[in-house]
Amino acid sequence: MKTLFEKIYDREIQADIIHHDAICCAFRDISPKAPTHILIIPRKPIPRIGDASTADQEILGHLLLTAGKIARELGIDQTGFRTVINHGPHGGETVPHLHVHLLGGRQLTWPPG
Ligand code: 5GP
Repeated sequence: MKTLFEKIYDREIQADIIHHDAICCAFRDISPKAPTHILIIPRKPIPRIGDASTADQEILGHLLLTAGKIARELGIDQTGFRTVINHGPHGGETVPHLHVHLLGGRQLTWPPG
């Protein structure tokens, strides 16, 4: 059975997709935590970062490079942004399909909650 994010990648579920290629896609989070809140997901349904293997190295690199590219395209690279990957309950993961959060457009605090 497909994950929620696989269905978004395959355009079976509507989302505001801003990037789509053979390895990943990026779309606006349905419940944004910052003025810019994008999720970047691999086409391959890796559940979470700790489940990735060395075979996924190219995918993982592509996700981060795509985050940087989108940040430049959306004009938040100068003011700054944050990338986040949540793993498991303590990490705050709610969707079991690996995703990189790209957050920007406001001052983000540290440490995170
Ligand atoms: P997590 O908590 O797993 O790190 O992040 C999951 C993210 O997916 C949350 O920020 C949540 O708002 C977002 N999300 C959950 N369901 C949907 C959906 O159907 N569409 C979109 N665009 N975002 C979703």
